[in-house]
Amino acid sequence: MTERTFDTIVVGAGLAGLVAAAELTARGRRVAVVEQENRANLGGQAHWSFGGLFLVDSPEQRRLRVRDSLELAWADWCNSAQWDRLDGENAEDTWGRAWARAYVEWAAGGKREWLRENGINLTPMVGWAERGDGRADGHGNSVPRFHIAWGTGTGVSGPFIEKALDAEKRGLLTFFHRHRVDELVTTSGAVTGVRGTVLAPDDAERGVASNRDAEGDFELEAPSVIVASGGIGGNHDLVRRWWPESLGTPPSSMITGVPEYVDGRMLDVAESAGARLVNRDRMWHYTEGIRNWNPVWPQHAIRILPGPSPLWFDAIGRRMPQPCLPGFDTLGTLRHLRTDPAISAFDHSWFIVTSKMLEKEFALSGSEQNLDLTSGSRKEVVKARLASGAPKAVADFVEHGADFVVADTIDELVAKMNTLTDEPLLDADAVRTQIEERDRQMGNPYSKDVQVMTIHNARNYLGDKLARVSSPHRVLDPKAGPLVGIKLHVLTRKSLGGIQTDLQSRVLDADGNAVPGLFAAGEAAGFGGGGVHGYNALEGTFLGGCLFSGRAAGQAAAG
Ligand SMILES: Cc1cc2nc3c(=O)[nH]c(=O)nc-3n(C[C@H](O)[C@H](O)[C@H](O)COP(=O)(O)OP(=O)(O)OC[C@H]3O[C@@H](n4cnc5c(N)ncnc54)[C@H](O)[C@@H]3O)c2cc1C
Repeated sequence: MTERTFDTIVVGAGLAGLVAAAELTARGRRVAVVEQENRANLGGQAHWSFGGLFLVDSPEQRRLRVRDSLELAWADWCNSAQWDRLDGENAEDTWGRAWARAYVEWAAGGKREWLRENGINLTPMVGWAERGDGRADGHGNSVPRFHIAWGTGTGVSGPFIEKALDAEKRGLLTFFHRHRVDELVTTSGAVTGVRGTVLAPDDAERGVASNRDAEGDFELEAPSVIVASGGIGGNHDLVRRWWPESLGTPPSSMITGVPEYVDGRMLDVAESAGARLVNRDRMWHYTEGIRNWNPVWPQHAIRILPGPSPLWFDAIGRRMPQPCLPGFDTLGTLRHLRTDPAISAFDHSWFIVTSKMLEKEFALSGSEQNLDLTSGSRKEVVKARLASGAPKAVADFVEHGADFVVADTIDELVAKMNTLTDEPLLDADAVRTQIEERDRQMGNPYSKDVQVMTIHNARNYLGDKLARVSSPHRVLDPKAGPLVGIKLHVLTRKSLGGIQTDLQSRVLDADGNAVPGLFAAGEAAGFGGGGVHGYNALEGTFLGGCLFSGRAAGQAAAG
């Protein structure tokens, strides 16, 4: 008979849960990992991720002549977080900010070595994500910090899956797959176990939605429980319920950047057991979402990771204002799209790019979209990146994607773009005029157009010049064509708030006291403290947040 009593129960077999389990089993603790999905889904979202990791002042940065420091990174973090809930003894942001400081120190200190010790290795590439809102004291990364793991997401989740499987073999870890936790069991004020539903077997492949048919109940006991159940991005009802006021109204249609199991149910379960949930209105959704032509989960969306050159137009064909430039300010752009009365009734915007931009500047987020890096083989990467034309995954989208149109002239392109919306909202002459104005700015290595300035600026960074930013050119230069129009949707991804925890990942109650026996980590805990990012992320901070908070939870629960 399967055992029912353990030293610790971990809810969720995503990255945060597996890291916590690794810390526990390394200390000889007996652990139950309870997971609503089947064994094919070990590693959760991290498996699908791009494997981007935020590090500060690393050898990879220095090799690319990036000068970074803890001070600069901390200033960037604070200017991005914009914490405004710090007042009062028990303020929502108090622990998030403390977590942020500890996390940035780790990213500038022991993180790289810890990654290496745990089998996570970095490629030499350092991307410049979230380039910011244009202000020195505003949101954004002053310098490139987005390091990419060999193997992308699989290179981050894989080592911890292996550790869990090894601990299982050694009898220290028991998986309860297709077990959904519906309740935390409390005895005399302390959490002492979990109760829930045994779901019917389902052999769905990784990421594919599985059934929710109930087959029975279960209960497990342990003196400590770690909630590592992820965020809410797969549950549009919850996203709408907690949609931030500052972002206007949620779009009437969104596409989904995470598997369906990122359902957020467990957050309310934790709240019922006394956990304090904070900053639920802080979220991180992208505006450069495209519908996957080859979907795995329902409404499967892929995020374009754009370089700085694509021309971005709103639904009625006006070029987007600063800071709404590709890859600069995720939430600033979402805010603009949702709050400008002229466009907030529409759910989409547009990129217009040349084929030359597409070839050098387009990356797609996700392990399955970057098979060369995901393979972990340097040879594959060199072969794929030196090949002419757009990367295969991008070319596949141009050929099969429902959001892509290709044409040689603006007239033809806009006519095709207008077929992708219910009514023809774009005027070819107006679009052409704006592009011609922009193209007139390309004659010199300087410009009065802010976006053109950012292209020149980016090419002063060696990494961008070599691999990421196409040489400045006119959009209407036939040699750079054909033109490509891309319809962009809002893609749901991450929750930035969640269960409030102290620096040992202990869950706090409404009075700021630890709930005995209860810990939380990863996205469920707002990546630490109930909101380590404040309002804005610097990117690559989510996987790292799972590693950091999962490690803390495992260590603390081990005692
Ligand atoms: C395509 C993609 C690209 C990304 N790229 C990056 C990147 O480059 N860099 C970065 O930093 N971040 C990235 N992220 C974000 C990052 O991957 C996630 O935020 C992180 O992996 C979340 O891990 P987690 O362990 O907290 O939660 P999850 O991975 O969501 O795991 C939670 C697990 O808990 C289970 N669960 C939930 N509720 C219950 C319950 N009641 N009972 C039992 N089980 C339950 C779920 O089924 C799930 O398996 C990306 C995400 C995606 C999807």
